[in-house]
Amino acid sequence: MRVYNFSAGPSMLPLPVLEKVQSQLTDYNGTGMSVMEMSHRSKPYQEINDKAESLLRELLSVPENYDIIFVQGGASTQFEAVPLNLNVKGKADYVVTGNFAKKAFKEAGKFTAARCVASSEDKNFTYIPKLTKADFDPEADYVHICFNNTIFGSHYNYVPDTGDVPLVADMSSSILSEEVDVSKFGVIYAGAQKNVGPAGVTIVIVRKDLQDKFSPVCPTMLKWATQTKEKSLYNTPPCWSTYVAMEVFAYLKEMGGVKAMHEINVKKAAMLYDFIDNSDFYSNKVAKEDRSLMNVPFVTPDPELDAKFVSEAAKAGLVSIKGHRLVGGMRASIYNAMPVEGVKTLVEFMAKFEKENK
Ligand SMILES: *Cc1c(COP(=O)(O)O)cnc(C)c1O
Repeated sequence: MRVYNFSAGPSMLPLPVLEKVQSQLTDYNGTGMSVMEMSHRSKPYQEINDKAESLLRELLSVPENYDIIFVQGGASTQFEAVPLNLNVKGKADYVVTGNFAKKAFKEAGKFTAARCVASSEDKNFTYIPKLTKADFDPEADYVHICFNNTIFGSHYNYVPDTGDVPLVADMSSSILSEEVDVSKFGVIYAGAQKNVGPAGVTIVIVRKDLQDKFSPVCPTMLKWATQTKEKSLYNTPPCWSTYVAMEVFAYLKEMGGVKAMHEINVKKAAMLYDFIDNSDFYSNKVAKEDRSLMNVPFVTPDPELDAKFVSEAAKAGLVSIKGHRLVGGMRASIYNAMPVEGVKTLVEFMAKFEKENK
């Protein structure tokens, strides 16, 4: 039996994609072999790689002056790749809005003069600072933000204006959940295992004119220019993960693309937030205008009841809903692959739990 899996990552994948992948597991498209067994230099794999790129370009309307690459090492490796690839003046601005933003900031400090422009740690990362161009150093190599904060459940409802300084965004937990104007960013990166596919592949979308700004000590494997030149095939890529991601892209396109997904995501998140806001039992501490559509943390009045909630929810087929240890309570991650029915079932369970435990 399939459960409703609220895990923050790795997380649910669309069932039709899993079924399609299963049907091709031992014999991909008549090749007599699995994608897992296939040379990354073979024609069928080249086609998968090309199709993944072109579908993602279409879904996000990525302009021609940007390259898309599929690399390894997770989003965390981009925390160090960013300061190594964009290092001309040796200084960078960071906005610290959560745990991953903080990790990226700390990692950058090893390679560049990283400055924390603003942080929301004063209120346990429950809001997004409102920044204007004047807040940023016009001489910085780039500005780094984390667009959706997976652990704390906050999200930028605006794209900061950084003037001519390239904006770099970690979109690991929101990519493909909403339309974004890619041209406002210099670089967008995202690990796949939240909203795209299996762990192992990381998407990097990078403007062409930003690919010659790497530090002389930037390792070949971390250099974006290496992979853009070789179309993500400089070394053995995470073939299986890219293949499943490609099938997810094809599925999203069939579902009406990112705009259609966003409409559903708004509906799902509203169902959950409205219920929480109308309850005096559950609460969510994030500033309303900065709430994430993807990750919804909430608590009951008592940590012991939170533990009871998590365990009883699991028995009801609503799994992996325990909050991150930094926040406690619960967190429902409701990425693209979570059906409306899953959120509806969760809200019904919450109502029942409240009645029984208030
Ligand atoms: C999960 C996550 C990461 C870390 O991703 P890895 O692929 O595990 O390195 C970084 N940033 C954000 C926003 C995340 O949600």
